[in-house]
Amino acid sequence: MNKFFATFLDVLFPPLCHLCRAFIPDAGPLHICPACRERMPAVAHPLCPVCGIPFLGVGDDHVCGACRQSQPDFTAARAALLYEGECRELIHAYKYRYKTHLRRPLALLTAAPLRDFVAACASELIVPVPLHVRRLRERGFNQAVLLGEIWSREWGVPLERGAMRRIRWTEPQITLTAAQRRDNVKGAFDVRDAGVVKGRRVLLVDDVYTTGSTVKECAHVLKAAGASEVAVVTVARAVES
Ligand SMILES: [Zn+2]
Ligand SMILES: [Zn+2]
Repeated sequence: MNKFFATFLDVLFPPLCHLCRAFIPDAGPLHICPACRERMPAVAHPLCPVCGIPFLGVGDDHVCGACRQSQPDFTAARAALLYEGECRELIHAYKYRYKTHLRRPLALLTAAPLRDFVAACASELIVPVPLHVRRLRERGFNQAVLLGEIWSREWGVPLERGAMRRIRWTEPQITLTAAQRRDNVKGAFDVRDAGVVKGRRVLLVDDVYTTGSTVKECAHVLKAAGASEVAVVTVARAVES
């Protein structure tokens, strides 16, 4: 772009940080200032190679107690960022304040650190966690689909938007315990066309991994429909303290 024109655009639409509204001279595609970026800690090793939960302190990766007790139907789940601080704020604004343009920084912050994981999974298609039509009507968009569109381009894996659907209305998981969440989502999903997933390696995507009950149930349904393998990617990972 012509430098004069770029400056002109900066005056009209100054590049501001999505979080603190600070002016960023060299905004790049993220539009998050360095100070806010620093308050978005990454998921780091050591972690559980199955569910991806990070452990405090130093040491080697090892399977966590929960995964040892009950192995999920997915092979591995990974998130790029911890669901706290600025990351949590960004996801809230995206999902609950309808700022759909925030899918871009969220997807791009995730695309780079998880590129190797996705490549190792050799996934053949991306399947977003579906929303019930009632929720979709309320919100107007499925946050996992919008993220999946960018990830699909970034990772070169085709997106199957409607591979799964939510066939049963479920109350929001936010106030429920882990056991209640598991029951809440049981039987809530199905695969629309088993031919799409049969014998294929699926990358299931969502915005946040909390207790994992939603992605575990989706992975279970995908495997039952014949998917050869299911891996999971989310922007963020909640860690109970
Ligand atoms: Zn900022
Ligand atoms: Zn685990």
